[in-house]
Amino acid sequence: MAQLSDDCFAFGGPMMSVDEAVGIIAARVTKVDEVETVSLVDADGRVLARNLAAPLALPPFTNSAVDGYAVASRDLPRDEARSFPLAGRVQAGAAASAAQPGHAVRIFTGAPMPEGTDTVFMQEDVQLDDAGGVVLPAGLKPGANVRPAGEDISEGAVVLRAGQRLRPQDVALAAAFGLTQLEVVRRLRVAVFSTGNELATPGSPRAAPQLFDSNRFMLMALLKRLGCAVSDLGILRDERISLADGLKQVASRHDLILTTGGVSTGDEDHVKAAVESAGSLVLWRMAIKPGRPVAMGIIDGTPLIGLPGNPVASFVTFVHVVRPTVLALLGAMPAPLVALPVRATFTYKKKLGRREYVRVFLRRREDGVLEAQKFPREGAGLLSSLVETDGLAELGEAVTKVEPGDTIGFLFYAGLL
Ligand code: AMP
Ligand code: MG
Repeated sequence: MAQLSDDCFAFGGPMMSVDEAVGIIAARVTKVDEVETVSLVDADGRVLARNLAAPLALPPFTNSAVDGYAVASRDLPRDEARSFPLAGRVQAGAAASAAQPGHAVRIFTGAPMPEGTDTVFMQEDVQLDDAGGVVLPAGLKPGANVRPAGEDISEGAVVLRAGQRLRPQDVALAAAFGLTQLEVVRRLRVAVFSTGNELATPGSPRAAPQLFDSNRFMLMALLKRLGCAVSDLGILRDERISLADGLKQVASRHDLILTTGGVSTGDEDHVKAAVESAGSLVLWRMAIKPGRPVAMGIIDGTPLIGLPGNPVASFVTFVHVVRPTVLALLGAMPAPLVALPVRATFTYKKKLGRREYVRVFLRRREDGVLEAQKFPREGAGLLSSLVETDGLAELGEAVTKVEPGDTIGFLFYAGLL
């Protein structure tokens, strides 16, 4: 277990690395094994339940890649251009009849190759002659501008695997096979609670010392992007018994419970104690900033993740702890976030052994180099810092400082889910 020097013990024990914590969580959750059938229009973002083998070769028949003239490669002009008489015309979607030997056939993109032909001249490269034929230049390679049947995908090949999160291009592939629906893992049911006496729900009155609950709406939006069915369970008060009751009540109807706030060590942070009384606490605190207090527990068999209340901490820990948990529950292939190398323009000191995320703007310099500029302020409560920046710079456990010019990893917000 990775240990941190000072502040971790102030919290009463060693802190776990993010990877170790995520590994423990993934090992403690049981993947959902119910499968449902969805139509292709609803398949984007869902997790494929079974391997998909191609029921059809792609393309299904050999066809022309261009608009032009089809000939047999044995007739190709070798040393100089030569006139060919024209016989036949085949357009996309039409059946082609066999070509006459020594003739060229007018052909269009996507049209089947007439029997006896195997090479297509692009129409831009030929000239019409006075006799109604075409002059074809020398030097074209046999087989040019033809898409052979199966060149993309051969029949029977496994092209999409169980656990794949379907993207628009995957849906396109299923459609190219003529499929109308796919078997996917059923949606994950996730309960979302905010905690805190200071919170008011948008649409209800806000007392002077209150603020509107923003995290719940952020978390629900993030979960929806991961294809989850979300239950909005409102705000729980800072009180152990009502928190524990609230969590217990929803556990059996959900695959995951998510809370935000109240997970720290203050006198009014009751989530940890509530989890301990409603179920069991698996881990608490991890070496991540912003974040750190993140609780994971099990309540009546349902996993719970308690995220911190500061909006930026809540966002960052969602991405790095909840997202992998959701993927594990869905039996989806792990999808590690890959940070792109960019040049830092800022100085930053950090603690060894802790992973830190810095909100940055991405700028392209005149010489093309991509630079990460740090948001000028650091507070984990600054929603504007998330709204205005382009993404997160990821500073790994081994890093202790960043200097201008250093290469650091950058994650676009858009690529985080
Ligand atoms: P906590 O983690 O409960 O100590 O909260 C840390 C900070 O985040 C406090 O300033 C809270 O008011 C704020 N906070 C907690 N929950 C939310 C929420 N759902 N939306 C916006 N801010 C929150
Ligand atoms: Mg609180």
